[in-house]
Amino acid sequence: MKMEISGVQKSFNRTPALLPTDLTLQHGQFTTLLGPSGCGKTTLLRMLAGLEQPDAGEIVAGDQCIFSAAKRIDVPTHKRNLGMVFQDFALWPHMTVYENVAFGLRAGKQKANIRQKVTEALGMVRLQGMEDRYPHQLSGGQQQRVAFARAVAVRPGVILFDEPLSALDAVLREEMRIEMMSLVRDMGLTALYVTHDQVEAMSMSDEIVVMEKGRILQKGSPETIYSSPSDPFVASFIGKSNWLTPNQSMVRPEHVTWNRTSHDDLRYQATVLSVSYIGERYEIRVQMEGLGIWTAYLDRRVRVGEQVQLYISPERICRMNGQ
Ligand code: ADP
Ligand code: MG
Repeated sequence: MKMEISGVQKSFNRTPALLPTDLTLQHGQFTTLLGPSGCGKTTLLRMLAGLEQPDAGEIVAGDQCIFSAAKRIDVPTHKRNLGMVFQDFALWPHMTVYENVAFGLRAGKQKANIRQKVTEALGMVRLQGMEDRYPHQLSGGQQQRVAFARAVAVRPGVILFDEPLSALDAVLREEMRIEMMSLVRDMGLTALYVTHDQVEAMSMSDEIVVMEKGRILQKGSPETIYSSPSDPFVASFIGKSNWLTPNQSMVRPEHVTWNRTSHDDLRYQATVLSVSYIGERYEIRVQMEGLGIWTAYLDRRVRVGEQVQLYISPERICRMNGQ
């Protein structure tokens, strides 16, 4: 289901949490809101879910207006055809796995074949046979799978995720990320995923929406956001950036090289500050003459204190908007 957000904004105690915002979630796409803590991601997600009321604006889901400040429309959460998965899983502790997943189906309109739908949803997340367990008898990963099964069992038009993996340890987080991503894609779900983790955002999304201080700075595919950031904050928040001029032009570390590839290349004298072997190559921090500290990846070890010559090709330089 497509979702269109226009002019939606929210303040708490007169402090803006989200400035007027427009955003479209395309049908069948995986969109991620990425930004540091406090930038307004959860506030936006909760307004889509009907858990928070916008001060202004309009939200259209499919062909139904679910919120309009001007027309005084505010469709309640359970009628918005959404699934939700949160960081703390929000499972009912006194209910079994079966009851947790069935709960959403009973609350919604789809009361037929509940047993079959629960079995199917638990099968998808590989939890068959766990129906009678209680949440405390499950691992963190299993609890998150139950939360996911509960959200998708109702076949929502849009599934909303709010930092669903941040309570899990690093290894499990990566495993669950891959598992959830393929389930969402296999089911053809429209998803909105909130995270402050750029690696998650880059690896899962069709579209990344980078936010800072209550506003959207840039939207685009992971490739576009990484290779053509239009704003200094975006450039610094995603990946590593080397600045040629403060806040105006930068180059990614993989485009800083030993070798001159053309006559147009810019040459710099650099002093090696630190060397870290990262497998296959070395990440080095260098003091670039007149430019500050840069990061580069080299294919052989250099010594700390050594002077090296490094090149960048002018077409690899990203220029920020409005500069
Ligand atoms: P994020 O999810 O990106 O970390 P939030 O949307 O939770 O950010 O918060 C955005 C801003 O709004 C923060 O400054 C936060 O303190 C504030 N905020 C969020 N919810 C409330 C609330 N219920 N009452 C007051 N301030 C809130
Ligand atoms: Mg949040």
